[in-house]
Amino acid sequence: MSFLQIIDLDKSFGNVEVLKRINLEIDEGGFLVLVGPSGCGKSTLLNTIAGLEPITGGEIRIGGRRVNELHPSKRDIAMVFQSYALYPNMTVAQNIGFGMEIRGVPKPEREAAIARVAEMLQIDPLLSRKPSQLSGGQRQRVAMGRALVRDPQVFLFDEPLSNLDAKLRVDMRTEIKRLHQRMGTTIVYVTHDQIEAMTLASKIAVLKDGVLQQFGTPAEIYNNPVNTFVADFMGSPA
Ligand code: ADP
Ligand code: MG
Repeated sequence: MSFLQIIDLDKSFGNVEVLKRINLEIDEGGFLVLVGPSGCGKSTLLNTIAGLEPITGGEIRIGGRRVNELHPSKRDIAMVFQSYALYPNMTVAQNIGFGMEIRGVPKPEREAAIARVAEMLQIDPLLSRKPSQLSGGQRQRVAMGRALVRDPQVFLFDEPLSNLDAKLRVDMRTEIKRLHQRMGTTIVYVTHDQIEAMTLASKIAVLKDGVLQQFGTPAEIYNNPVNTFVADFMGSPA
């Protein structure tokens, strides 16, 4: 059985249908990439998985458990957004450890968790800096650190690299791939960058206007696009 299952999912805002009968699934440790043009519903789909948006119909299952009615904090999910607001007056270490501090995790335990994540993301030398003393890529790593430190079962990424310059995007892509291989966490990752999708995904879902066009491995999508939209979008040979 797949670890994350999206079954006949509908989502409307008022009477505007934004997601229409979406069916998707991904195995534990899999890397699902959602692609599609701006406005097709990618962020909305991630938000419903996270529980930040209620769904209108269908079902979401994680680890075999229906989570439709489950509060976001009970879903064992961490999300990394496109625009990541770090606390400007806190150090990197404090930014990463803040959630644990609120939950009352004891200091030695917090410090160990921060050190583990910092080592993983190669930001250990930056722990005592403030966000204003970091580059864009370093800030994005800290934002990932905040999510990683929670050690979630599922990671959701919403275009995490789109604010970075091209060179850094390639470096961070490699970094995310390495982290995924090391941690084996299940990931759902939104991008509008086809190369990012092809290099990271175990499965790709192509959306258009809230309708799933194709769901398959990168090779299937590239070699056998089901329609001209998918072919054009993924840059496959016609
Ligand atoms: P994407 O992430 O693929 O660019 P979104 O999921 O952000 O697309 O948006 C999908 C559609 O849903 C868009 O037409 C958008 O205007 C609409 N939408 C998103 N959030 C809301 C909201 N909170 N209220 C009303 N409409 C929304
Ligand atoms: Mg979006």
